[in-house]
Amino acid sequence: MNNHLCPCLSQRPYSECCQPLHKKQQRAENAEQLMRSRYSAFYLGEVDYLIATLHPSKRRLDERELLQNTINTTQWLGLKVLDHQQKNELAEVEFVAFYEDSPVGQLHERSRFTCESGEWFYHDGIILPAIKLGRNDPCFCGSGKKLKRCHG
Ligand SMILES: [Zn+2]
Ligand SMILES: [Zn+2]
Repeated sequence: MNNHLCPCLSQRPYSECCQPLHKKQQRAENAEQLMRSRYSAFYLGEVDYLIATLHPSKRRLDERELLQNTINTTQWLGLKVLDHQQKNELAEVEFVAFYEDSPVGQLHERSRFTCESGEWFYHDGIILPAIKLGRNDPCFCGSGKKLKRCHG
């Protein structure tokens, strides 16, 4: 996995992108980086990381089970970050995470994050309607092909 491109589609190797965060060697510098690393953690099944980066006040008793269930049942295909706004210790990131379904599933969410003692946490988010995809646009999976020739 080390030499492979990061699942968050940053076009950088996993070892230089989300892996140092997953391994607790680095902290996310901002909410967007945390969001990307959480997507990669879903993709790779890094449950401990998903719990550690969820704000303690938001962790449910069965959080691990719920996360594991999502991981087991969802095949993630790509990530598109649409917006990132930060004001002091608060931030919002809007993104679409694509997953295998027919037609292709979209988790379009505007998430809220806070920074406490230099550490970013995911709080919650509001779910938004699916975005329109152009058949001639580059596919969301990062293949470089047009959507209609790839996951269209
Ligand atoms: Zn990454
Ligand atoms: Zn594709």
